[in-house]
Amino acid sequence: MPTDLTISRSAVVQPLDQIAAGMGIGTHLLEPYGRAAAKISLDAVDELADRPRARYVVVTAVTPTPLGEGKTTTTVGLGQAFGVLRRRGVIAIRQPSMGPTFGIKGGAAGGGYSQVTPMEALNLHLTGDMHAVSAAHNLLAAMTDNHVHQGNRLGLDPLSITWRRVLDVNDRDLREIVTGLGGRAHGRPRQTGFDITAASEVMAVLALASSLQDLRARLGRIVVGYTYDDDPVTAEMIKAAGAMAVILREAIKPNLMQTVEQTPVLVHCGPFGNIAHGNSSIVADRIGIRAADYLVTEAGFGADMGAERFFNIKCRASGLVPDAAVVVTTVRALKAHSGKYVVKAGKPLPEELFEENPDDVRAGAANLRKQIANVRLHGVPPVVAVNAFPTDYASEQQAILDIAAEEGVRAAVSTHFADGGKGAVQLAEAVMEACEEPSGFGFLYDDDLPLDAKIDVIARQVYGADGIDVAPAARRQLDRYERHGLGTLPVCIAKTHLSLSADPSLPGAPTGWRLPVREVRASVGAGFIYPVCGDMRTMPALSSSPAAERIDIDEDGQIVGLR
Ligand code: ADP
Ligand code: MG
Repeated sequence: MPTDLTISRSAVVQPLDQIAAGMGIGTHLLEPYGRAAAKISLDAVDELADRPRARYVVVTAVTPTPLGEGKTTTTVGLGQAFGVLRRRGVIAIRQPSMGPTFGIKGGAAGGGYSQVTPMEALNLHLTGDMHAVSAAHNLLAAMTDNHVHQGNRLGLDPLSITWRRVLDVNDRDLREIVTGLGGRAHGRPRQTGFDITAASEVMAVLALASSLQDLRARLGRIVVGYTYDDDPVTAEMIKAAGAMAVILREAIKPNLMQTVEQTPVLVHCGPFGNIAHGNSSIVADRIGIRAADYLVTEAGFGADMGAERFFNIKCRASGLVPDAAVVVTTVRALKAHSGKYVVKAGKPLPEELFEENPDDVRAGAANLRKQIANVRLHGVPPVVAVNAFPTDYASEQQAILDIAAEEGVRAAVSTHFADGGKGAVQLAEAVMEACEEPSGFGFLYDDDLPLDAKIDVIARQVYGADGIDVAPAARRQLDRYERHGLGTLPVCIAKTHLSLSADPSLPGAPTGWRLPVREVRASVGAGFIYPVCGDMRTMPALSSSPAAERIDIDEDGQIVGLR
């Protein structure tokens, strides 16, 4: 098969105003950014408000192996398949971060014949939204330090400042730093550090804002630290929120692109999947939901992570109701969940993983069953997508279809990677049927449940834990947030995505364990509390062989090595 880059370059593309016209979006709402992408004005939300509402489909997955199981490719393939079936599909995905693009994982445009094109534009800069997020975030950091330097009228305790700096580069050496060295005129020495831009609260704010005014208000609520009396200091109090909103005024508009089959794609925002909710933006979905028959959106990591946040954080904030959820799985992922193979990021896959072995697929089925149950917990009909790899055996794919049948769930093998939209037609038909089932969608917990009880509900019902163990420091933080009136916020549990449990080495669906809550932080602007359950890296590093080493420009000025 040709490389992703070759497929992307040979795609027949349509001018974006035609793509938009297919969505019922006129050129007056389109703001072109070169040939690859156009921004859509937020006026589209009101202008399209009377249109029929699309079916809303979220794509989630089993607990991923470090390689990714193909949620993005399946999201794209499914969106394309609606086109094959003469329905209007619109796709909504996150914008890739350049950190992983130059690191281990590579880009995130999908792959094969199910990808967003041009992938160079998608994976590199696009319309500059990432940079705007970095700029807005770092402006607040600078204004916070400056506030302390200029007399500290608010009495902000410098040692309590939690607002770090961000950069869209995997840079290990910036994780922990000391700023303000060089004497009195150059600030005050303070230990801090950098996170990757996707981990910025500003990114989560942008993704959850429903309008420019809502964005402005949420930015103002961001907490940067505490006073000596332990009262929160916000971006509003630092007087930074207005300027931050100005920096983000273009970034809040979703980016329109297309797939290799000319399906419209809304690319917007890319909040981290651990310490944030890992979903694309609400404004993109608010536009997409009025511009299609089916809006297909991707949620990060497994159903215990991205989909749980999609249901309980994103849908709570947007008011949109999902009609179906696709649970992507692969033969190799379920084999890995059997616990018989060691699958590690950056390491070659064990050869035995590719031998015909339907029994191992069945041995790893517990994870798929649990993730199906996690979708059903929210009253949404699941559909299992078997993302077909060339190394799969028919007996192994059949084993997954059998498991789905035992669970009473619709399922289809999807060959969208090799075949494009026509390879996902069966999946699309299953999704269309699921969407016609009456949706019993509901949140897992109510706003007024205390924070610790919210954590407990997710731990027990979604992760399969026996309960939670709250460390004393975390207990004090929970009490503080309840006292500050933040107890009604939803929670976004920061735990490993590599296991349903808090231990990344445990495959399948572990039982007989408790969730350790070490620390609890608040993203008040974004509007969630995040308990930290394990070591969360918010600044990735480069490996011994980063993708960047293979990326170059050839004699014709074309990019090579991007994947
Ligand atoms: P996720 O969104 O779950 O992280 P992606 O869709 O980005 O996963 O896919 C992860 C990687 O696996 C990508 O490099 C993609 O091209 C590759 N991939 C996904 N599905 C297939 C497939 N069916 N065959 C071959 N490679 C695939
Ligand atoms: Mg993805």
